Parts: sequence; C-alpha cells; structure tokens
Amino acid sequence: MENKQHVILVRYGEIALKGLNRHTFIDLLVKNIRGALSHLESAQVEKIQGRIIVHIDDHELNQGIDAVSRVFGVVSLSPATVLPSDMTAIEAAVVEEADLRPFDSFKICVKRSDKRFPMTSPEIARHLGGVVLKHYDGQGKKVKMKGADREIWVEVRESAYVYSDFIQGRGGLPVGCSGKAALLLSGGIDSPVAGYMMAKRGVKLEAVYFHSFPFTSERAKEKVVDLGRILTRYTGHFDLHVVPFTDIQTKIVEVCPERQTTIIIRRFMMRIAEEIAKKTNCLSLITGESLGQVASQTQESLAATGGVVSMEVLRPLIGMDKQEIVEIAQDIGTFETSILPYEDCCTIFVPKHPETHPNRKKIAQGETKMMDDAEEMIQKAVEETETIHL
Ligand code: ATP
Ligand code: MG
Repeated sequence: MENKQHVILVRYGEIALKGLNRHTFIDLLVKNIRGALSHLESAQVEKIQGRIIVHIDDHELNQGIDAVSRVFGVVSLSPATVLPSDMTAIEAAVVEEADLRPFDSFKICVKRSDKRFPMTSPEIARHLGGVVLKHYDGQGKKVKMKGADREIWVEVRESAYVYSDFIQGRGGLPVGCSGKAALLLSGGIDSPVAGYMMAKRGVKLEAVYFHSFPFTSERAKEKVVDLGRILTRYTGHFDLHVVPFTDIQTKIVEVCPERQTTIIIRRFMMRIAEEIAKKTNCLSLITGESLGQVASQTQESLAATGGVVSMEVLRPLIGMDKQEIVEIAQDIGTFETSILPYEDCCTIFVPKHPETHPNRKKIAQGETKMMDDAEEMIQKAVEETETIHL
C-alpha cells in the first residue's frame, strides 16, 4: 500500500472570512500552521480547495495534531488517510478505518468535489455502505442515518481522504490579521488570559513586563518568561520587553501620597508601555483588568490609568468573573505557573487604604513631584529595557 499516507485535514471557518480578504486569511493561516509545526521534521503544509492538508509521518502525527489544534483560525481537524481517488483503493481504506474501533451502527458520509469522479455522492455512500456490510457479514452491523456509532467520511477531491475522527480547533482569526498590540504581562492569572483572548482575535503580541529588582526577584521574571512561552503555543513567537522599573517605583513610593501609589504606578506602566508599543508598531495596549476585581480596577481607576495614554487600551476580561478567567487559564495551561508564589511589583508596596474612586485632578496633583523628570526616567527605562525573544 505504498500509495497510502496519513495526513491532517484542517478546516477553517468560512464565517470567519467575512469582511477579511479570503486569500490573506488563508495564506496567513497556512503560514501560522507552518510555524506551529516547525519543530516537526516531516510536516509539510499544503493548501487545497477549501482545506489545508498537513502531510506528516505517522510517528509525528499526534504531536502535529496537538500543535495544529492550537492555531487560531482552525475550526476542526481530522487525521485522515489520503489515497488516489480510485474506488478499489477507497473501499480498502474505508474498511480499514471501520476496523479501527468497534461499533454496531455506522454511516458513510461522502463529499465529492471532483465532479469528474464517475459516481455521485449518494451512489458512492451506498456502494461503500455495502462494502462495509459485506466485510462484517453475519456480525449484525447496521446502517443508521441518525445517531450512528461511527461516521466514516470520504472526501473525493483530486485525491481521496478517508477519516472518522473530528478534533475541535480553537476557532478565532489567524494571529497577525488584526495588527499588533502590546500586552502588559505580569506574573498573575489575568494578563496571560487577556493576551490569549486578543491573539484569538488575530492580534499579534508584543509583551511588556515591569521588573522591580531586587523587590521582585529573578524568579519572578523567570515566571513571566515561562508564562510568555506557554502563550507562544497559541500565538507563535513574540518578544517580551523587560522594563527596569525599580527607580520609578521607588520614587513614586517616596514622593506621592500613599493612597495614590498603586494608581500612579499603574499610570507610569501605561506611559512606558505606550512608548514601547510605538517603537514596535503596536496599535493598542492590552491589560488583564476586570471591572471591580480590585481597588485599581474601578471605573474611576481605569479612567485614571487609561487616561494617560492616547492609544486604545484593550481589556478583554473587563466583564468576566474571576472564576471564568481561572477556567480559561486552566484550559490554556497558564494557571499552574501563574499561581506560583513569586511576588509581583504591584503587591510589594500596597497602600493600607488605597484610593478606589480617584479623581483625575487629584491624581494629577499627587503626581506632580514625579513630573519634573518623568520624561527622562521614562526614556531611561525604555532604553534599558531588555528584550527576550520567546
Ligand atoms: P494579573 O493577574 O494579570 O497580574 P491583577 O488582577 O493582579 O492582574 P493588577 O495587578 O492590578 O491586577 O494589574 C492589572 C493589569 O496591569 C494586569 O492584568 C497587567 O496587564 C498589568 N500589570 C500589572 N503588573 C504588571 C507588571 N509587573 N508588568 C506588566 N504588566 C503589569
Ligand atoms: Mg497582578
């Protein structure tokens, strides 16, 4: 059977194509699938009418399925046998597919897009149903149109594809089709989920982490690097910018009213993130803020922090409960790392009575002692930022 090979048949959402250039979408998806498979030697990605096909050796098939299922824009996938579109070959492949797992009832589903094939779809289905019944003669197998134990699919194109497993993809849009945005990535639970959600809408990420060494340890930074690496399984490679934040944070704590320090620290993070975003061609900032979750996430606080930048601030978690966020973090594999107990720079100088309804004017007043050399401090932090390619 040297003509027979295993492939991964990849389906993308036709609905997702609305409003986007179809070819751009598919080409980007192919590129991202290639990227996700670059660690597998045998994988070859091919674009055919309405589908993407991954040719891959059997020993790498499961790893390949795993990687492709995480690429945004993929709706579902099936490991399939590909063979010449010739009836004798198809019969053998269908019987082999049927033999993979026990069943009582079955159904043959046929999609014929090669209209040169000499039989219609219903004719092919009936014929192959007969072949399977004959193969299991005397074992009481039944054809069932609705609710069959096994559905065996046959797609007749230039080649024929036979399969019976469907694996869910994550949907969404291919990363890169919605431009770039800078994710403020801390070591917490929320910001990795926020990055995941925007990447799912096609946004390519840059990540920015504010590091206050020695108040935050090398381990805290490693944790953020680890979280970023987990995200790359969905987003592809991106850069993590580690901003030295100690001087600014220390000065804020020294010269600003205690009640306002959290908000003012967040305002400086936004300002610096915007500078890095501009330098890296990002159109927006992304944070993991959720309305009312903590004192710095009331409507007034969000206005006071978002108000210092002119870029759009995307907050995909804004209307979500903590539990819903935790469930996504568990699903995408960031939760276990996020809950490791390394201190975050926002938690080390927490005021006893933080301002929850900051008035923008008062915050600006509280900040005045920072503003003499804010420009220079921000520039210095940006210049001394370390970039790590993930
Ligand atoms: P998270 O779980 O994402 O840390 P949080 O609930 O702890 O969020 P805050 O600490 O108030 O909330 O931070 C709100 C948002 O600000 C975070 O989601 C993140 O986007 C950003 N942020 C906070 N600290 C940092 C940091 N050290 N570096 C980069 N971004 C940060
Ligand atoms: Mg945090």
